[in-house]
Amino acid sequence: MGLYKKYSFFVNILLAYLLVIFVTLKLSLIWIIALITLLFVGISILFYHYNEQKHYYKDIIDNSLNIVLVSDMSRIVSANKTFFKYFKGYRNIEEFSQKHHCICDFFVEEEGYISQINDGLSWIKYLLKNKVVYHKAKVKINENVYYFSISASVLDEKNNLYGVILSDITEQEHYKKELESLAINDALTNIGNRRFFHQKFDEQIVLTQRYNHPFSLVIFDIDFFKKVNDNYGHDMGDKVLVEYTKYISSILRDTDIFCRIGGEEFIVILPNTTKDKAYLLAQKLRESVENYKEILPITMSFGVAGYEKGDDDTSIYKRVDVALYKAKETGRNKVVLG
Ligand code: GH3
Ligand code: MG
Ligand code: MG
Repeated sequence: MGLYKKYSFFVNILLAYLLVIFVTLKLSLIWIIALITLLFVGISILFYHYNEQKHYYKDIIDNSLNIVLVSDMSRIVSANKTFFKYFKGYRNIEEFSQKHHCICDFFVEEEGYISQINDGLSWIKYLLKNKVVYHKAKVKINENVYYFSISASVLDEKNNLYGVILSDITEQEHYKKELESLAINDALTNIGNRRFFHQKFDEQIVLTQRYNHPFSLVIFDIDFFKKVNDNYGHDMGDKVLVEYTKYISSILRDTDIFCRIGGEEFIVILPNTTKDKAYLLAQKLRESVENYKEILPITMSFGVAGYEKGDDDTSIYKRVDVALYKAKETGRNKVVLG
């Protein structure tokens, strides 16, 4: 019936036109009835195909693995069956709308994922404005976190109707995060690796040069660690590395960046910390390690350096490295300020 309503004006014109032809050609009533019947049979066939096609499209959309929904910007107007596989507690859109006006209520605000408001635009408007970019949404439904790629299109601008498609990329996102973590974390101790250190070190240099905030480096190395391996075996050596890394992490602040940059060599980037404060922290670490004595007693030697005006990554790193070398050369289990 929707189709008839849409084209009723043209159908009426056609019927009137036929009537005029019949009258002008003075056709008999039988002919008129036969032709009108033919016409209606034709129109019915058209309607039948149209409805059948609509039925197919609905089946395809309902069986899609993607969430497909129609929104009028302020609420969801309709959604396919897949929507309810994720939003299990709701039987239909009316039930959903009683509690939430928007799927964006479930978006988790996090860098790299779409929010309710982006650059001052509501999320659908933002998606429409930035069509060429790949967008992702992090969605939390009843304690379950899903990741979706998300896109929007205009369906009917006059009536403010927009189509939104969400494709589940949870598995890919987990895989990607695992790869990212493997690339920057040390597999044995689970703190940052050498690559992560260089990444954060470069960032810190840029920040310090721009905002003039102080920052310092503390580098340290286990004394005579080779003896631990030789006397107790490599596995015991590994345990010592893991245990002391955990212990030192518990002393550091959350903002300190702790990395393993060699076999038994570590470094901490201390943002917003002068070299004097860094020196005091290194002293505290040295003493704590000496007194810890878990698994096996060990000591460590420390080098400290603070960012100075005109420094670049090479110059400050050289100072801290030389300081560690001096600590080793002059007796070990000590802190030297570079
Ligand atoms: P120094 O006081 O001069 O630092 O002496 P050291 O013995 O600690 O230094 P050296 O460089 O001679 O030896 C470092 C040792 O660290 C040798 C190596 O077997 C051990 N090592 C490096 N990486 C690992 C690791 O991942 N696990 C274990 N168990 N040992 C490691
Ligand atoms: Mg050593
Ligand atoms: Mg070493």
